Amino acid sequence: MSFDKFGQVSFTSQTKVGAFVEYLDKGELRATYCQECGRTFFPPRADCSWCLSSNMEWVKIEDGGKLVSFTKVNYGPTGFESDVPYVLALVDFNGVKVFGRINKEVPEEQITVGMTVKAETVTLANEQLSYIFNPA
Ligand SMILES: [Zn+2]
Repeated sequence: MSFDKFGQVSFTSQTKVGAFVEYLDKGELRATYCQECGRTFFPPRADCSWCLSSNMEWVKIEDGGKLVSFTKVNYGPTGFESDVPYVLALVDFNGVKVFGRINKEVPEEQITVGMTVKAETVTLANEQLSYIFNPA
C-alpha cells in the first residue's frame, strides 16, 4: 500500500481485518503475528504472506519504539494538499516496523533518528481512526 496516503485510505478494505479499527477505537495499535512461522505483520494481515497460514493472532504494539527514519512530506496528493507539510516516520517497535505520521505539534528540530516514540490513536477529520507518533 502507499503510505503517502496513509490515514486517507481505508485500512480495513486493504487488510480485511476490521478488528484493527476496533482496537484503534480502544486506543491500541495492533499487528498480526503468524503462529506458524513467527513473523509479525504491520499493517496487519489476515493471512501470512510468508507461509500462507491463516493461523494469525493479534499482538499489541507496545510503547517505546525507536525512530528509524523520517521524511518531511511537502506535497500532498490531489485533494489533500491542506494536509501538508507533515513528517512521515518509520518506527521500530521491538522488531515490528510501523509507518506513520509524527504529530504536527512536535517541532521538527526535536525529531531525531533513535528517539523513543509511542503511537497514539487519533480520529481524523473524515471520522476515520488512525494513529500518530509522539515522543515517549
Ligand atoms: Zn507465517
